Amino acid sequence: MYIHCTDKELFILDKIAITAEAMEVHCFLIGGFVRDSIIGRKTKDMDVVCIGDGIALAHKVAEQFTPKPVVNYFKNFGTAQIKFQDIEIEFVGARKESYIYDSRKPQVESGTLEDDQDRRDFTINALSISLNKENFGELIDPFNGLQDIEQKIIKTPLPAIQTFSDDPLRMMRAIRFAAQLDFTIEKKTFEAIDENKERIKIVSGERIADELNKILLCNKPSIGFDLLYKTGLLKIIFPQMVELAGAEYIDGKGHKDNFYHTLQVVDNIAENTNDLWLRWAAVLHDIAKPATKKFEEGHGWTFHGHEVVGGRMVPKIFAKLKLPQNEKMRFVRKLVELHLRPISLTKENITDSAIRRLLFDAGEDFDALMTLCNADITSKNKQKVKRFLENFEIVRKRCAEVEVSDQLRNWQPPITGEIIMETFNLPPGRVVGDLKNAIREAILEGEIPNDYDAAFAFMVQKAVALGIVYK
Ligand code: ATP
Repeated sequence: MYIHCTDKELFILDKIAITAEAMEVHCFLIGGFVRDSIIGRKTKDMDVVCIGDGIALAHKVAEQFTPKPVVNYFKNFGTAQIKFQDIEIEFVGARKESYIYDSRKPQVESGTLEDDQDRRDFTINALSISLNKENFGELIDPFNGLQDIEQKIIKTPLPAIQTFSDDPLRMMRAIRFAAQLDFTIEKKTFEAIDENKERIKIVSGERIADELNKILLCNKPSIGFDLLYKTGLLKIIFPQMVELAGAEYIDGKGHKDNFYHTLQVVDNIAENTNDLWLRWAAVLHDIAKPATKKFEEGHGWTFHGHEVVGGRMVPKIFAKLKLPQNEKMRFVRKLVELHLRPISLTKENITDSAIRRLLFDAGEDFDALMTLCNADITSKNKQKVKRFLENFEIVRKRCAEVEVSDQLRNWQPPITGEIIMETFNLPPGRVVGDLKNAIREAILEGEIPNDYDAAFAFMVQKAVALGIVYK
């Protein structure tokens, strides 16, 4: 076998080979599995292409396993999948593809292995391994994909202009693979992206989001975002991020390039979390800096309120990028809005109530917020970084102390609106809200402890002052 496989993988490949021989069809392992086994990356699903009917082959292969796996097949696409333990195997007949200009969906007809390799996006994804008796395990590499793996190059098998014009999603895939594998995009391929970038508009937002998320989940997401920027794709799919780029100077005073600052923050956070949404918060934390930028005499550049304006931009950006409009989006928004708060708590003479307010506002996302704040430190000055980190550690400690006594994370007010309405026989309305707020403020200001009896007594007192009669 040319590639290194586990015993389980070899067991599966043997079953496929035996079945294919009995059916007298030629079949081959192809695509990501071959690429990743050569690179030594953890492999995922297996793609098998046969010269014939992929669905029929899948059914026969399934019979080789006990218990027999379910065969999921899609007649329209000529594909079928079976799952053996944690490995998914997809079967398809070799095909030849041709494209019409305004669609990335090809016209498909049966073809040879060569046709099938021609339709692959990159040389490293076009490698195949024979599963046939006469040359089992042999590598079939018409486009020197192996050499490109060794030289860490992303390159299309056929002329790049055509490849990207046919299916513009491949431009995003090129960048995603470059970021995931830390490969370089070959010059002509790179230029072809620049030339075809406008065609990204025919790709659905969901597919683009999928690739963006994969880029963001890389060890070093900046590689992918920088390539998206340099090829001009980012300007089309996510212009707000491009607005961050560049530094303006007035009276010799400049501000930092917020695009590269953001990329650094994203790389920093990637070292500490695999949470996609926390990584999105890093991407978006300064997104409103261009909108709030001002040059103030005597002060220099300011970005007042960028966290609030940025928070407001999050739902729109998520909608445009086809990212979810649910609690994930609200989490990102909350972090963008709060990302300056811990910094303000690093000053001297901070009161317990200020600490309490942050704990209350961040709630269960407090740790995520602190992870974002740490990542936001991008100074090149080591001493400064050390000092900032130490300051945040102090904030964390103080928060932990207040937390022990007050338990403000996952905070539920000790007195609910229902209790207020029942106690004073009130209908829902403003007065109920006012009383609830007054109780919350009293707790956060440390005037009363965070418990039911104290809050109840405070509520009655407050109600009397407001002229509300206690039943
Ligand atoms: P990953 O699973 O990490 O996305 P992969 O290479 O397995 O990597 P898939 O999307 O599963 O990617 O695709 C499997 C194979 O199908 C690829 O290796 C490639 O040969 C081919 N392929 C997928 N998408 C395209 C495309 N848009 N254009 C041409 N070939 C493609």
